[in-house]
This record gives sequence, structure tokens and C-alpha cells, in this order.
Amino acid sequence: MAKFVVNPSSPAQYDAWRQGAVPEVERVGPGLWSVPVPIPVNPLRYVLVYVLELPDGVAIVDAGWNTDEAYDALVAGLGVAGHGIADVRAVLVTHIHPDHYGLAGRVREASGAWIGLHPADAALIRERYDDEVVDSLVRREREMLGRSGVPGETLDELAGASMSIRHLVSAVRPDRLIEDGDRLDLPGWDLRALWTPGHSPGHLCFVSPERRLLFSGDHVLAKITPIVAVHPQSRPNPLADYLDSLAAVRKLDVEEVLPAHEYRFRDLTGRVDHVTAHHEERLAEVEQVVGAATGGLTCWEVAVRLTWSRPWETFQAFARRAATNETLAHLVWLAERGRVTCVPGEPDRWHPAAP
Ligand SMILES: [Zn+2]
Ligand SMILES: [Zn+2]
Repeated sequence: MAKFVVNPSSPAQYDAWRQGAVPEVERVGPGLWSVPVPIPVNPLRYVLVYVLELPDGVAIVDAGWNTDEAYDALVAGLGVAGHGIADVRAVLVTHIHPDHYGLAGRVREASGAWIGLHPADAALIRERYDDEVVDSLVRREREMLGRSGVPGETLDELAGASMSIRHLVSAVRPDRLIEDGDRLDLPGWDLRALWTPGHSPGHLCFVSPERRLLFSGDHVLAKITPIVAVHPQSRPNPLADYLDSLAAVRKLDVEEVLPAHEYRFRDLTGRVDHVTAHHEERLAEVEQVVGAATGGLTCWEVAVRLTWSRPWETFQAFARRAATNETLAHLVWLAERGRVTCVPGEPDRWHPAAP
């Protein structure tokens, strides 16, 4: 694929990212701050929490995950911006993943802030994070991985691969559900919600048309592409959702993208086109792998045959599961367009489309 270099809008933040460090708290613009909150043991290293100043406090976009270290970093970062944790009036959460939603409950406890989340993600909280019901989610994940042809001896390990990060979330319920197109009631801000399903069913971006800013969460990032996968809680065709959501943000008149990881940047359309091309290439590769085999392949067998950024053998359980479920997202997308066919069974087998 042609090389595409994004245009970082903060050289200092970009340099810190490149050096493997956590960037400083920065003033992004009038009344707007970026506060990196560390997420140790995760290769992304930090979540960028955005602090939006209001006449009577602040709103934050995303929160970090639920550890003391993250909480302390958020409190310290708010301090640099001249605010305390008790000043937080609203926590706008882009999506339900632990590094974004995890700390929201603790911020609410300390401040009385309301928490806002899209209903499609709010609906997943109970099964995902409540101890009494999480077994059913693991069971459904196991069934799905079995149908994907994951070898029996690793099924349990892969199905339970997210359990170790559940404690990073306080499983609170949101106070407000934010729908597509909602204007957020934040004095001094013209913020509008844009529903961008794909990476998660209820992923939200927040747009400021006046300031031409896009708070992009994990939907569009400068370097990496977010995981888009079929899993028990996903919508049926998450890759179709994701590509549609990319097309939706591409239409926005935006000057600067404020993502939740890495660094902020300009040239949203260039980045969107690059990510779209990446998925088109991946779809072509998946179709080619299926076409080259006789007798059909399981999703797992397709995944093993694809090229990955690292050798497949080095993938741990979580990465293997993500890779399998991402491959399934591409297969489902291709099947819906008649480019491959699925023969259901135990496991399902994927064949080239009938000529
Ligand atoms: Zn995420
Ligand atoms: Zn994230």
C-alpha cells in the first residue's frame, strides 16, 4: 500500500509518542486540554483524555481505566489545567472499552458528573462486566470460536482471554444515553454526537463544527487501525458498519482530529482514505486465501494464512482471538457481497463464491 504520513498537529506530543514516552498535558486550544492517562502493560501506553472547560467546571471526553495510577494521572492532569476532579460535570465516553469507560464511575463518585454513553454500548455493560452473568458471555465466545475452527485445546484460553482486564472497569451504568446527532448540553461548546459503530457497536465521535474539531475516540487514529471484529456482542457485520462510519466522518469539515491514543493530527480525509484502502486490501487478501484452498477453510485456517505485522506463532491468546474475530469480520463482509460463501457446520467452512 502507498505510504501515507499523517500530519501531527502537536510536534511535542508526536515526539513523545515516537520516543515511547507518555506526552505532557497540553493546551490544545482555548478552553481545551489534552491529558494523557497511562494504561500500563498495554502497547498503546496511554489514553488521551480531553478536558473541555465550561463556565462552571469541565467536561471530559473519555476517562482512562480504573487503576489508582490512572486516577492519579487524571487528577494531576486536571490540576495542570487549573481544575480539580470535583469540577468535572460530564464524562462523555466514546465507547465501552476499559481504557475509555473504566474510570468513569470513579470520576462520577468524586464529582457528581453525569456519564454519557451510546445506548448500543450501554446495553453491553451487564453481560460484559457483571460477575453473575459474565459466564454466559464466555460461553457464547467459546461457541463462536469453536465455529471458527479454533483448535479445541486452546478454546478455553481464547474464550477467556479478556477476563484479566475486567477489573479495570467499574461497571457503572451511564446517566444519559447519547444518540446519533444529539447536541450535547455543554455551555460554550457546540458539540454534536456522531454514532460511528464498527470498533464497538455504540462507538461515538464528538464533533465541534464551530472549532472544526473531531474527538475521534478509537474510530480514527493516526497510525494504527482499531480492531473491528465479530464477537458475541458485535453487530452482525461490524466491518460494513465501520467502513460506513469512516465514510460518515470523511464528510465532516474538520481541521484537527483529537483521537484517544497516539497523537492528534490533521488531514482527516487522507487518513480515512488510507484506512479504507487498508481494509480493501485485507478483504482482497482474505478472498484470495479462501480462493486458493480446496475443500473450504475454517476462519481460523484463513487467519493463520494471512500476513500479520508479527509472526502468528508469537501471538498470545488475546491477539489470536482478536485476529480470528477480525478475520471473521472480513469473511462476513465478503459473504454478504457474494465474494465467498459459508457452509455452516462444526466448524463453519468458507469457500470461494460459486462461479
Ligand atoms: Zn477501543
Ligand atoms: Zn482505546
